[in-house]
Amino acid sequence: MGDTLNAEQRRYCMSRVRGKDTSTELRVRSVLHHLGFRFSLHRRDLPGCPDIVLPKYSAAIFVHGCFWHGHKNCFRAARPTSNAAFWNKKLDRNKIRDRKSVLALRSMGWKVLVVWECQVLAANLAARLEGFLTPEGRG
Ligand SMILES: [Zn+2]
Repeated sequence: MGDTLNAEQRRYCMSRVRGKDTSTELRVRSVLHHLGFRFSLHRRDLPGCPDIVLPKYSAAIFVHGCFWHGHKNCFRAARPTSNAAFWNKKLDRNKIRDRKSVLALRSMGWKVLVVWECQVLAANLAARLEGFLTPEGRG
């Protein structure tokens, strides 16, 4: 498993892990914890290095910053107007990478949820996570 990532993916993974443990991600973890789900973090052997992985549910969760990952129609994702070419290239590359990671994970049998930074304080976060993990309810 560990060798399925190429060098670039591995670097990307490391950079993500370094910049992580943000309050956004901690919030999602804390909700999952309260719901009683067990999970592991930053699985480097999986495409895109998902922030939260629940092997029992074959589920991977990305907690994305709206700006860096280009949340569609989100005011936090407004692109800088100065040096636009640089930013467009950089941010477009992130989006393409995110999309590839999701597709790769799905093809491996994982289900994938993206939680955006601007959504983590929403009242429905717990319901959304639970609905994603156990659509048929836990029993
Ligand atoms: Zn957003």
